[in-house]
Amino acid sequence: MSMNTDNGFSPVLSRRGFLAASASAAVLFAVGGFSCSAKTSSSPLGLPPLPYPENTLAPVISANAMGFHYGKHHKAYVDNLNQLIKGSEFENTPLEKIITATAGKEDQKAIFNNAAQSWNHAFYWRSLAPKGGGEPPAALKQKIEASFGSLDACKKALLNAAVTQFGSGWAWLVADSGTIKVIQTANAETPLTMGLKPLLTIDVWEHAYYLDYQNRRADYAAAVIDKLINWNFAAQNLV
Ligand code: MN
Repeated sequence: MSMNTDNGFSPVLSRRGFLAASASAAVLFAVGGFSCSAKTSSSPLGLPPLPYPENTLAPVISANAMGFHYGKHHKAYVDNLNQLIKGSEFENTPLEKIITATAGKEDQKAIFNNAAQSWNHAFYWRSLAPKGGGEPPAALKQKIEASFGSLDACKKALLNAAVTQFGSGWAWLVADSGTIKVIQTANAETPLTMGLKPLLTIDVWEHAYYLDYQNRRADYAAAVIDKLINWNFAAQNLV
């Protein structure tokens, strides 16, 4: 898989679809729509590789912060999930299906939380790009303007969602039928369970920004939107 921002990633791509799209990457394979390279038979859901080296989002997100966020936090969700589903009905289930099957079920909350956080983080990494920001591709920009009035208004709504999400959670750009919307979710909640199509996301858990920004979540979110947001990825998800 190439390291550019047009990586062909789709949040709902089937295993077969992914393999077809990345036939040149023989060492990669897909689980639940994500590629992974360290699968073992006892670890059906792997930690997907970052789509770029972890020092390339600096100075907006430092290599140090990426190392902890991806290498510790994201990895822990994947590891926890694999422990939780070992020997269960979900052992060989694609990630998205685990999420939708466990959503809202009190007795499966731990599986849902770790599955959804695994998915949300993989989606978040692809929502960013080393040379992100700027303008969305024309088709997406047109839909954003139809929904928000202007790209600026959309970016302000996204920033506002990121800043005002109380406690841990996520700010999302989603498609709701033909309309583009900004939503917030708490903790591990994800638009996958809400009948909405996620286009991109910003992690606003404190672990996403505290090493670089301490309590200044607004500075983190504004810098991400201006410098890192991967509009190409959002446009690919819209199709
Ligand atoms: Mn996170």
